[in-house]
This record gives sequence, C-alpha cells and structure tokens, in this order.
Amino acid sequence: MVESHAEDDCLFCGIIAGRVPSEKVYEDESLYAFKDVNPKAAVHVLIVPKRHYANVAELAAADPELLASMVIKAQDIADQAFHGAYRLIFNTGKDAGQSVFHVHAHVLTGEVMDE
Ligand code: C5P
Repeated sequence: MVESHAEDDCLFCGIIAGRVPSEKVYEDESLYAFKDVNPKAAVHVLIVPKRHYANVAELAAADPELLASMVIKAQDIADQAFHGAYRLIFNTGKDAGQSVFHVHAHVLTGEVMDE
C-alpha cells in the first residue's frame, strides 16, 4: 500500500512554501534543504524535492534524475561539513520510522559515526 497525504496536508509542502518555519540550508528550483529540528548527528539536514512524492521509490519511478540530484546535494553538504563522510537515509513506511510522507533524505554528518 502506498502511504500518501494530499499536498494541502503535507508538512514539508508547507515548509517549502514558507508557511511553516524551517532553518534553510539550500534551495534551488527543484530542491529545498533544511536543518532537522531533532538532530541525530552533529549535522543533520533534510533534503526534499519541491514536488510532492510520498516516498523514495515513488520518486525514483517518476523522476530518477531528481533523486540523483538529492544524492549529489547530500554529497555537497557532507563535503562542506565533514570531508565528504555521511549517512544518507530514506525512511520508507510508517513501520520503518517514516513520519512525514513527502520524500526526504536525512543527511547525517559532521562527526565520526562508529555504529
Ligand atoms: O523519516 P521521518 O519521516 O521520520 O523524518 C521526519 C523528520 O522531520 C524528523 O527527523 C523530524 O525531526 C523532522 N522535522 C523537522 N521539522 C519539522 C517537523 C519534522 O525537521 N517541522
């Protein structure tokens, strides 16, 4: 089953539109990136496509170049924050911890992660 919310109800659509506050770190015509409010690493950035897709598989099927651009942006952020070392996480599905059903890449970097 695909979990999807209407864009009107989507928290990250609200952040992209500026209706919901966020600490922006990057924006272009297709991507928006901001600091996670509940960071799990020294640097924890969320990268979201401006167009609403519920999860990473839906995005990959619809627009693989846009997904690739998210990975390249994650690398850029980690290059600046921590010599290019990072974790890139796409929680997919409620039982895997996805709480916002607008695809987002968690970029975790800025510190050594052993586990
Ligand atoms: O993968 P998941 O859907 O759980 O990730 C959602 C993330 O969005 C959480 O890490 C949460 O801290 C973050 N968040 C945020 N700003 C908000 C609401 C949620 O950074 N206003």
